Order: sequence, then structure tokens, then C-alpha cells
Amino acid sequence: MYNKRKHFGQHMLTDERVLNYEKEMLQPEGKIILEIGGGTGNLSKRLAEEAKHLIIVEKDRDMTGTLDALLGDKKNVTILEEDALNLSEKDVLFASKQKRIDQIISNVPYSISSPLLFKLRNFNFEKAILCLQKEFVDRMVGLPGTKDWSRLSVMTQLYFKPVYLKKVGKESFSPQPEVDSAIVMLFKKDERTDEKRDKFIEHLFSHKKNTLHAASKAKEMRETYPNLEKTVADMKMEKRRIFTLTIEEIQEIYSKIK
Ligand code: SAH
Repeated sequence: MYNKRKHFGQHMLTDERVLNYEKEMLQPEGKIILEIGGGTGNLSKRLAEEAKHLIIVEKDRDMTGTLDALLGDKKNVTILEEDALNLSEKDVLFASKQKRIDQIISNVPYSISSPLLFKLRNFNFEKAILCLQKEFVDRMVGLPGTKDWSRLSVMTQLYFKPVYLKKVGKESFSPQPEVDSAIVMLFKKDERTDEKRDKFIEHLFSHKKNTLHAASKAKEMRETYPNLEKTVADMKMEKRRIFTLTIEEIQEIYSKIK
């Protein structure tokens, strides 16, 4: 049974101290909360006690059965049996009859870490608490010029203010995953999603170790951004390696070539 489900990323967080810590950092009292991947409800039951409303999205039918038995009779809980990646903020609000989402919390299934994070840039919320693979969190909070600075760092820090909270050892989960996790707190910035700019960031970072000059000469870059080479030369930035560029510099380059 466990093998069959492994692709759902079902490692339950069973460490009481970590569960309580997450709740404390979230401060759910009186808030409308979206939990992604409710699982067996370890976290959900703690949140339901204090939240104004708790919306749980869980795609596994066996798990929603467990959640329903645990929390189904609570008026302030909505359980949605859906793939979180297929839901927009509007869908969630409509299905739960809520007006806004204040907070998001998830012990994120590793397989959906990137797509889920990118999806959250289209959600409005104040604060999120996410538990993810430690290496992933290190890259989210990484700084320009370091080995962790990547497309993920830029995307995270463009749309959110991330705060690294703490490492969570693999022994806090059942069954144990192969790697350690970490908890990160995100505050949503007032930044509009710009698909074209985000595509540019993705393109740039596929040449992460190269200089801007070399990157601008790559075939797909020349075709997509024909004036990039001249722009970075005019800005006297052509010798800069992509992984040293700050978000402000990337935005400045993009504003000149778009
Ligand atoms: N919150 C629980 C469970 C964490 S495990 C706890 O802390 O113990 C992650 C959960 O996410 C699993 O129950 C898994 O079934 C669910 N899940 C995996 N992919 C999902 C997706 N795309 N959408 C919604 N839930 C998903």
C-alpha cells in the first residue's frame, strides 16, 4: 500500500513539537487558512481548533476519508478532494464560500514543491508556513553570487519575503523520507505576476554559470531576446555571470529589452 502511494509524497509529520511549532509560527487564531495536503490531519486538527475557517485540499480519497471522519462535523472546516495544482484562488474561495485566504500552510509533498510555489504567486495571502526539502529551502532563501542563487531564489524573492525558520530532521516524519526538511515562512509581496518576465528569468538561469554576453549569444536567447546582447553591453554588464545578478539588476535588464 505504501509503495503504491509513494508518488503522492505521503510522509506524515508526526513530531508533536514540530507540529506545535508550525502552529505557533502561523498564529491561526481567527484566520481563514488554506492547508495543502491534509494527510491524516495531524496539523489540520490543531488548526481547526483556532481558525475562523480551515480549507483543506487533499487529493487522495483515502486521506479525505480520514479527514472527514476527524473533522467532517466541524462547521469551520471545508475538505476539498482535489489536486492543489489544479485549483485557483477563485476555485478555493468559491468551493469554501470564503471571501479571502489569510494564511497558507503545508507540509508540502516534495514532488509538487516547485509547481506549488510558482502557483502561490497567483494567490493573495498574508503569511505562509511551508515545510519542504531542506536543499529546496536553502535555494529559496539563497543570496546572489552563492551556489544557492538560482531561478528558484529569484522567483521566491520576487514574489515573497522568505524567512528561514528551522531544520526538521527526517526522523520527524513517518514513514521517514530520505532527506531532511526545513520550515520557511513566506510573506506575500505586492507583486503582479508577469509571465513573460518570469520566462526571461527561466531562460537566463538556464545559463547560470555563463556571462551575460555568452548567454545573450545562445541560439534561443538571440531568437527570443534579439537586443539583449547590445543592451547588456550598453549597461556595461556583459561580463557579469548570471548567478551574480540581483533581482533589481534582472528587472532593469528586462525593462530595457521587453
Ligand atoms: N499535512 C499532513 C500530511 C503531509 S504529507 C502532515 O503534516 O502530516 C503530504 C500530503 O499531501 C499527503 O496526504 C498527500 O496525499 C497530499 N498530496 C500530494 N500531492 C497533492 C496534490 N497535488 N494536491 C493535494 N494534496 C496532495
